[in-house]
Amino acid sequence: MGDRVFNFSPGPATLPLEVLEKAGKDVVDFQDTGIGLIEMSHRSKEFMTVAADAEANLRELMNIPQNYKVLFLQGGASSQFFMIPMNLLGDKKKATYLDTGTWSNKAIKEARIFGDIDVAFSSEDSSFNRVPEDGEYTVSEDSEYLYYVSNNTIYGTQFPTAPSTSKMLVCDMSSDILSRPVDVSRYGIIFAGAQKNLGPAGVTIVIIREDLLDTTPENVPTMLRYKTHADKDSMFNTPPCFSIYVMGEVLKWLKRQGGVEAIEKHNKEKAAMLYEAIDQSDYYRGHAETASRSIMNISFNLPTPELEVKFIAEAAAIGLNGLKGHRSIGGCRASIYNAFPRNGIEKLVAFMRVFETNNPA
Ligand SMILES: *Cc1c(COP(=O)(O)O)cnc(C)c1O
Repeated sequence: MGDRVFNFSPGPATLPLEVLEKAGKDVVDFQDTGIGLIEMSHRSKEFMTVAADAEANLRELMNIPQNYKVLFLQGGASSQFFMIPMNLLGDKKKATYLDTGTWSNKAIKEARIFGDIDVAFSSEDSSFNRVPEDGEYTVSEDSEYLYYVSNNTIYGTQFPTAPSTSKMLVCDMSSDILSRPVDVSRYGIIFAGAQKNLGPAGVTIVIIREDLLDTTPENVPTMLRYKTHADKDSMFNTPPCFSIYVMGEVLKWLKRQGGVEAIEKHNKEKAAMLYEAIDQSDYYRGHAETASRSIMNISFNLPTPELEVKFIAEAAAIGLNGLKGHRSIGGCRASIYNAFPRNGIEKLVAFMRVFETNNPA
């Protein structure tokens, strides 16, 4: 096997090596059954146990109340952009959205197909370099929910805490789920594509308050109704078995790390190392305003686009991969989710110092 590089990719992203190694073995022969994991029936006792354990561990780690269902769906986080308003906003009901970047933008576009959507805040004018503070926007009284994206993967901004409102919250946590504690009881729906912080692509977690299962209008197709999947424990049709299995192993790994509080502490320390390197020099400039900084994705610029190209190439040559920023803002981005190792950040910080010395602006 070649040496593993430090993979700063935004998603799919770094997974714990021990999880990958176990998955490699189980794909060929699952727990000495003589059948590979991805060959066995999703209704076999073995796979049903895998799925049930994954749900139980997610419930334990996130402290999910009893009156919430956990669904394992397909179609990516992007399918939730339409499933949420399709199920919750029959008869053109109203909802309020906070526009903090590409992913909220896409969600707003879909929501407008189904409901009367009020965009109460946007940081588009400043290249989405911040999230709003409480009191900076108003949630209309007749809104069914307030929608926001807790971590903006592309811009490197993150809500430091959930918006304070009496309205039900709906949140896209695709890029920071399980990176810090969350009070699930404040939410109607939390969803996340697995491929950032939880596992491979192919499964999307939806945590939904039970009473919302009955709000879906009559004309919504069976597969697109949350209740269909809730009633059948996400086995209405064939679920993404492999993705659920790997996610389950990542959840077990997370428990071994000490759970969400422990990983949050770890994440904050990792992010602080990188922000410190950025703040200590005029050479590197962080994209996000300080109060909106993400502990998962750190977007930054160098003095010129040419230096950025050189920086990314030289970093890759020493095993620091995936540092290119998203095409919509350019620059560099270090994605450092739960499984990203601390020594990878130490190596990046050391490289940043050397690069600055060798390449004056
Ligand atoms: C990556 C991402 C998405 C899109 O996820 P898909 O599974 O590719 O549809 C949505 N929201 C956020 C915050 C993301 O980071």
